Amino acid sequence: MTARVLVVDDILANIKLLQARLEAEYFEVVTATNGKDALDICQSQRIDVVLLDVMMPGIDGFEVCRLLKASPQTLNIPVVMVTALDQASDKIQGLDCGADDFLTKPVDDIALVTRVKSLARLKVLNDEMLMRLTTSRQMGLSDDDVLARILKDGPGRLLVVDDHPRSSQRVMSALAKVHEAYIETDPRAALIHLAEQPFDLLIVALNLEHSDGLRLCSQVRSLDRTRHLPILIMADPGDEARLLRGLDLGINDYLMRPVDRPELLARIKTQIKRKRFSDYLRNQIRESVELSITDPLTGLHNRRYMERHLKTLIADAERTGRALSVLVADIDHFKQVNDTYGHDAGDVVLQEFSRRFRAYTRGVDLACRLGGEEFLIIMHDTDKALARQVGERVRECVAGLPFRIGSNQEIWVTASVGLATWEGEGDSSEALFKRADNALYAAKRQGRNQVVADAA
Ligand code: GH3
Ligand code: MG
Ligand code: MG
Repeated sequence: MTARVLVVDDILANIKLLQARLEAEYFEVVTATNGKDALDICQSQRIDVVLLDVMMPGIDGFEVCRLLKASPQTLNIPVVMVTALDQASDKIQGLDCGADDFLTKPVDDIALVTRVKSLARLKVLNDEMLMRLTTSRQMGLSDDDVLARILKDGPGRLLVVDDHPRSSQRVMSALAKVHEAYIETDPRAALIHLAEQPFDLLIVALNLEHSDGLRLCSQVRSLDRTRHLPILIMADPGDEARLLRGLDLGINDYLMRPVDRPELLARIKTQIKRKRFSDYLRNQIRESVELSITDPLTGLHNRRYMERHLKTLIADAERTGRALSVLVADIDHFKQVNDTYGHDAGDVVLQEFSRRFRAYTRGVDLACRLGGEEFLIIMHDTDKALARQVGERVRECVAGLPFRIGSNQEIWVTASVGLATWEGEGDSSEALFKRADNALYAAKRQGRNQVVADAA
């Protein structure tokens, strides 16, 4: 998806210049020459980033920004204030109006593209989050608390890597009131902190006196633990070539020294928010993967997952020579439970059975629901004798205690159990499973509520 950028300026030549540069980077550009038109466009079209001139006749840039941030429809559109002079007071006023970032005229190419890209990515994530929020509300599963916390800009945990005393002091004093910030002068020590503790953002001086800031950035990008950590670089004027290499390495944004306080805070806010959004989305994906491998009624693993996992465990047993057994359990006369007490009562029995099934097996054993009222446990490092003990325990945990199916009703349930132990090289998962199933049927034939081990 290409981002749509709205460029607002009362001077046509300024618009043309920014438009040409943005279009060269394949952004879609929409333009407005006054504040009122800008507000109308933002209300009626999809806009991903606004570049807003401060000085305009009529409604000025600050006011436009304030109005955009005050309306629920436009509040999430990132706004970059384009200031004529490098005036600190303008930036402070801009931050007060809710601006997300700043550019100074004449606008530098690298700065323009970096800011717009970074904010457009944030906008895409933001929109995605809002859709999730809607869907989860519709499904009655509300993640509101988590999402509300993310959408609010809470303080972050930051690591600053800088060995210039003056520069680092300036940065730390700007951060102290808002964030939890730590300073480190040695990149190797920094890498260890990052691997061991959770951080929301890394800020690195590009030109460290005693080492190479870019090397640290590249290491952070290549390690699993830190791959998704946002990186902000502090560069010195004249460093453009190394800065471009940094952008190629995947740093997320940069600041020029001497570091400007409002800019620093605005960029940190953007990066932290983006990280929190993407962490959340990644977790959601992980959870939905989990959903596809678990059985919704009982929370146990499902058959598809079990078949995969049994193959993996057999391969491991072939390599290590460790024992492996499987247990299949089937509730006796379960059809009668449904017929007598209703399907819902049957479901309650299945859930309680699963709970006991899991409680009476070790954490490392994989419990699955094969379907209906048939269950299975894969027991790693378990030989015939031990499997027999587990089988007895499972039978006993079902038959030994009644099942509560209503507020006042209890029924007695039993289960039959079949066992099979892996016989070494050449014994396949299918054959193993088949023998456990045969043993289960023998237990049923011999009168139910008993454990039978396969004869092989
Ligand atoms: P046996 O002792 O020989 O195993 O007899 P059984 O009645 O337990 O076995 P059968 O296979 O004849 O019946 C199993 C029943 O389990 C039939 C089916 O309606 C019921 N069942 C399967 N899945 C579910 C479920 O998710 N919930 C409920 N409540 N019942 C289920
Ligand atoms: Mg049954
Ligand atoms: Mg059955």
